[in-house]
Amino acid sequence: MNFEETIQEVYQKVNSIDNRGEMASYIPELGKIDPDNFGVHISTVDQVQFGVGNYSDKFSIQSIAKVLSLCLAYNILGDKIWKRVGVEPSGTAFNSLVQLETDRGIPRNPFLNAGAIVISDILISNLKNPKEDFLKYVQSLSNSAEFKYSSEIARSEKSVGYRNVALCNFIKSFGQIKNEPSDVLDFYYDLCSLEMSCKELSEVFLFLANNGNQIHTNKSILTERQSKRINALMQTCGFYDESGEFAFKVGLPGKSGVGGGIIAIHPDKYVIAVWSPKLNKKGNSYRGMKFLEDFTTKSKLSIF
Ligand code: GLU
Repeated sequence: MNFEETIQEVYQKVNSIDNRGEMASYIPELGKIDPDNFGVHISTVDQVQFGVGNYSDKFSIQSIAKVLSLCLAYNILGDKIWKRVGVEPSGTAFNSLVQLETDRGIPRNPFLNAGAIVISDILISNLKNPKEDFLKYVQSLSNSAEFKYSSEIARSEKSVGYRNVALCNFIKSFGQIKNEPSDVLDFYYDLCSLEMSCKELSEVFLFLANNGNQIHTNKSILTERQSKRINALMQTCGFYDESGEFAFKVGLPGKSGVGGGIIAIHPDKYVIAVWSPKLNKKGNSYRGMKFLEDFTTKSKLSIF
């Protein structure tokens, strides 16, 4: 795979176009980030690594963390997890409440805020020290990096989290949240505040490109079947109401976050992480989407 030249070339091109979109300033602390940050890092199953721009700067990974909380909950509950969350794209915004009424508190998929709140509830019920244990789990996926929640970002989101409060209480009214909503949301905000760089993201998620096995230890994080299912969910539901568009343009499973990060996974080959904080109207990184579309087109390294 000769991707280094392609990454450089596409990075320069995307860096030179207008940096359009809006910051996720509905979370006040996220509005303070320099909008011109732009980083890319790839890690391959053959253990090749390459990065450009701000690839080693940590940022708020937001909803990208929802893949990791899902993996841990899937590990704990196995297929019973699909009784609590669905596996269908919602065709609605990430923070929408509308389908929950007819679906009686079962979120369409685990990457919607509603779905990730239910997964947070599952983790709280099953972990002794949920925040510490989740962080340890994420830590165990990495070779060397140190991870932290950002208390500023979690606090900032909590101060304006009216919609998430509504979602959690609404789901609870159907009996589909077992713990106290305030405890569930407390965990959820910390989860979303997790900070990583593009380099760390591409390393941590590499097990999903390697049939569920960690590269450096060969430890099984998920079974091959579970890993296939997480990738399928990322393909169909990873980009809010733009998941079809991402599959159409990029052709890889992936997940975005409102911090401007995107990870994309090519099973058996690589994980690429991109960060640029300005978001398009659907809440996905404007330059991140452009970069990945050009990268898979030029390199021909997509799954289709
Ligand atoms: N913490 C964010 C929220 O609940 C996550 C949104 C995202 O990255 O999709 O609004």
